[in-house]
Amino acid sequence: INRIGVFTSGGDAPGMNAAIRSVVRTALYENKKVTGIYHGYQGMIDAEFTDMTSHAVSSIINRGGTILKSARCLDFKTKEGRAKAYANIKREGIDALVAIGGDGTFTGAQILSQEYDIPVMCIPGTIDNDLYGSDYTLGYDTANNTVIEAIDKIRDTAASHNRVFFVEVMGRDSGCIALQAGVGGGAEAILLPEKETAIAELIELLEQAEVRNKSSMIVIIAEGDKNGGVYNVAKHVQEKFDHFDIKVSILGHLQRGGSPSSFDRVLATRMGYTAVRELLKGNSGATVGIRGIDMITTPLEQALNNREFKLNEELLEIAKVMSF
Ligand code: ATP
Repeated sequence: INRIGVFTSGGDAPGMNAAIRSVVRTALYENKKVTGIYHGYQGMIDAEFTDMTSHAVSSIINRGGTILKSARCLDFKTKEGRAKAYANIKREGIDALVAIGGDGTFTGAQILSQEYDIPVMCIPGTIDNDLYGSDYTLGYDTANNTVIEAIDKIRDTAASHNRVFFVEVMGRDSGCIALQAGVGGGAEAILLPEKETAIAELIELLEQAEVRNKSSMIVIIAEGDKNGGVYNVAKHVQEKFDHFDIKVSILGHLQRGGSPSSFDRVLATRMGYTAVRELLKGNSGATVGIRGIDMITTPLEQALNNREFKLNEELLEIAKVMSF
């Protein structure tokens, strides 16, 4: 391997820049060259390449988003699209790839490395923490911190007016952020996609909280909760409690941005380092990850065929106890 191509793809996440920096610096340290590929797979097809020097990744460890940009690319799902991408990366002299993204990105990398003789290593970058092969994905910790900060602010206004706030957080399939930030933010109730909570059950919880004279109530709802969306839940609760002043707050894309936390920066740096070292050792078709305190790799086939159920049941129980 002489030249490694690095790119970010799918949804962006805080820590992606720190991972790019680490890939570049580790490869240069090992006397390899690095090409940055803009806009993920689309940039491979359009030959949007840039030579990465050590200076090119200066002062980005602290920056959210991704300097290489990200994109979703339908053409890459076709054989013709991938043939064009491969021809371009070959012409550029790229002989190995590091892909940073979510499961769609992993799937694309796996297919490319199976169709053509190109080693790939993946780095899990998504705030959802929903990938198999790593206890934590890049951006998850930062997103939790962002949500907690928002909950703290919402609680100030909720407590001043005896309001009940329904706060929707990201997570279409994964309740990781809702649970983690819900516990950290002291939410009265948490609704997750993985665990059905009937509205009747939620109403009962809020009734109990009211009896205990809570000055404010915050309910965290993951995007993927199965009760028809945050407005629907709020409407049903409002019908039952007409004396409550109910407000809805959807945090949305602000959860994706921001300077990465210390945890995400260090995790990204370890993952970038490991991805390059593994490629140079001959490993391919795998994702790097963290298990406990160790860096590990998992074959993509295994990572993509197992959707890890990461919901921490004990934490869910603790959340219930804490709202008492
Ligand atoms: P996230 O879900 O966190 O936003 P992701 O990496 O899963 O990130 P996707 O949009 O699903 O995001 O995938 C990113 C890109 O990977 C797609 O736009 C496409 O170019 C490529 N990709 C996804 N699935 C495939 C596939 N089956 N074959 C080839 N390429 C794919």
